[in-house]
Amino acid sequence: MQLSSLLDRFNEPETLKMAKLGRELRANGIDVIDLSLGEPDFDTPQHIKDAAIKAINDNWSHYTPVAGFADLREAVCTKLKRDNNLDYKPEQIVTSTGAKQSLANAILALVDEGDEVIIPTPYWVTYSELVKIARGKVVEIRTTVENGFKATAAEVEAAITPKTKVFMFSSPCNPSGAVYSKAELAALAEVFRKYPDVVILSDEIYEYINFVGTHESIAQFEDLKDRIVLINGLSKGFAMTGWRLGYVATSVAIAKACEKLQGQFTSGTSSITQKAAVAALTGDLKPSEEMTEEFTRRRTKTLELINDIPGFKCFAPEGAFYVFPDVSAYYGKSDGTTTVNNAADFSMYLLNTAHVSSVMGDAFGEPNCVRFSFANSMQNIEKAWARIKEALAKLK
Ligand code: PMP
Repeated sequence: MQLSSLLDRFNEPETLKMAKLGRELRANGIDVIDLSLGEPDFDTPQHIKDAAIKAINDNWSHYTPVAGFADLREAVCTKLKRDNNLDYKPEQIVTSTGAKQSLANAILALVDEGDEVIIPTPYWVTYSELVKIARGKVVEIRTTVENGFKATAAEVEAAITPKTKVFMFSSPCNPSGAVYSKAELAALAEVFRKYPDVVILSDEIYEYINFVGTHESIAQFEDLKDRIVLINGLSKGFAMTGWRLGYVATSVAIAKACEKLQGQFTSGTSSITQKAAVAALTGDLKPSEEMTEEFTRRRTKTLELINDIPGFKCFAPEGAFYVFPDVSAYYGKSDGTTTVNNAADFSMYLLNTAHVSSVMGDAFGEPNCVRFSFANSMQNIEKAWARIKEALAKLK
């Protein structure tokens, strides 16, 4: 049997592959500490769970409108006004089974064969693969630890060609933790004003996990708003990864296109999740703030432990829950049995020697770095970094 050629065009997410390898070692009785996965280790706040239980008992068990219940689309608008001072109408909102689906909808709605999509590296693993699925061309702008992992306005302008369809980025960024300031976004907006055909896809899923101040959205630049596709979701900020709720806020035309695609793939996301999401989006943000406070403590601890490891060049993350050190100083070194030649070798060496899982930077378009999550308990973070330090000391 011949499977479709589509399957050869893209890769399976490296993050999920590493999690699978970790699980396999664990099944063999090895105590693996997982610093590979991208999800909060907290429970969903009680008031959101209560809303879901009520939705079940009230028999919200039927198909929903594809774009989501009216009260949910309204709740997204309320949130965007409250948190971001952005004005959207419910017909500009399409909810989905996660920011991942919203991104897929948007890319498939916008990108034709040969269209160029500019993505600053490092980027979330799925971005490049979605572009490949759509037969588009990924154009990378390489940012580094030295420039805070941010693309400058000049770099973005230099990457734009007549074929550019989309510029996509996340702020806070997974994996680097970079957060674009208002001034940096304003400089990018100034470039986009000159290129009216470029659509800007802004992934803001880590909005609440910000260590440097308030979140700024590029959608605040009113004259560009019609070609900004703002993506967000509940997975990270409300510890709801398994519930599956993402959304897009954009022009009515792009929203309708996303809805049309979703209507053939999944229809509306779970009715129970949607009712719970209304409670999350319009309810008390205290539990989310407390999670961010804990992430702040873990970030401080992680940076302190990393500082103690020779050879790492590490940017202090401004948001999200990862560190993404440049580990290339270890390339070419060996413990006598295993030689570490690249980020994949480095990650595998740590998994096999220190029993700590991480994700190689290649998956994010940055071969010199490796991603470590700090969405794990303080105790596991301390244990993991002690083991990493010991394992790395053997590389000569
Ligand atoms: N965007 C980024 C930058 C992410 O890190 C993730 C999750 N790892 C997503 C989108 C997808 O989130 P969701 O669970 O809402 O699909």
